Amino acid sequence: MSDIRTIGILGGGQLGRMLSVAASRLGIRCHIYEPGTSPAADVAWRVTHAPYDDQDALRTFAESVDVITYEFENVPTSALDLLEKICPLHPNRKALSVSQDRVTEKTFLNEIGLTTAPFADVPDEDALAGAIERIGRPSILKTRRMGYDGKGQVRIGDGPAEWTGAPSVLEGFVDFTAEISVIIARGRDGQVAAFDPGLNVHREGILRTTTVPCGLPSRVTTDAVLCAARIANALDYVGVMGVELFVTPAGLLVNEIAPRVHNSGHWTQAGCAVDQFEQHIRAVAGLPLGDGKRYADVVMENLIGDDMDRVPELLSTPGVQVHLYGKGDPRPGRKMGHVNRIGT
Ligand code: AMP
Repeated sequence: MSDIRTIGILGGGQLGRMLSVAASRLGIRCHIYEPGTSPAADVAWRVTHAPYDDQDALRTFAESVDVITYEFENVPTSALDLLEKICPLHPNRKALSVSQDRVTEKTFLNEIGLTTAPFADVPDEDALAGAIERIGRPSILKTRRMGYDGKGQVRIGDGPAEWTGAPSVLEGFVDFTAEISVIIARGRDGQVAAFDPGLNVHREGILRTTTVPCGLPSRVTTDAVLCAARIANALDYVGVMGVELFVTPAGLLVNEIAPRVHNSGHWTQAGCAVDQFEQHIRAVAGLPLGDGKRYADVVMENLIGDDMDRVPELLSTPGVQVHLYGKGDPRPGRKMGHVNRIGT
């Protein structure tokens, strides 16, 4: 067994909540560090509510745990400087810094031989016209940092181009046939276990459903897993990572890396003996990785905002596993829970 008794998790959202539950099944307790309100607080052993620049709180947190991980990739590097001096961090600093900035991320992916959408760095509004000339239209302007669920993105069509207000990247618009993602785990010893790639459908930039099997030829799914494994190895990664890819007639393009458990991996809770949350806990605790095989067909659907009105009906539908995050108000666009429909 591992000598890890307590895991510190930076971020206390629904991912931290589900990680805490998975850890508890393995006899490991979690200490959550979260500046805001925390759905993970209901289920974790201990919670620290403090900002990421509170040096005393960070130090006390790091001293109370055996290893630190995160469920949120935008942790300021100044906080990591302090934490890393006290306690090991998995996934490592490089994985975080690569995924925090879209230009750094795409440059890294190209350097390790993977294809991305064509892109141009747009440090300020004055650089936008030149970038559009190089990349062409249609294209998508995204803030380099802090964007998620389609936030901080502007579609550039034929009309005048809107500025995002922050340093950005301009990406060529990819006419994809499908969006898929690979959830992959890598252990401390370099062992890798990938879950089956899932087919993702987004609406208004937010993930709505993930379906497994994804229905694509195994030539494509194998290639997707190989892309994810190459990324994990290149980063000397420890933990679970989500890799989002575009499927095009010319091959796969990597859209984004999430250095953490990922929304498109929630189906594993109903499809696998060891889900992505337990797999992450195993990896960061130095335990053997679990069996990533898929034992059922699953469609995961996010419950967003008013979808909460459907919960009573979903609770009485056979073959449906309901997960609710214990958040307060069901505001539009807010992820409140998800369901896994098992079977075809
Ligand atoms: P992202 O925040 O980069 O994951 O983007 C959110 C969603 O916008 C993606 O899942 C795609 O559906 C769409 N999208 C992002 N980038 C592109 C692109 N370069 N071309 C076409 N669609 C895109």
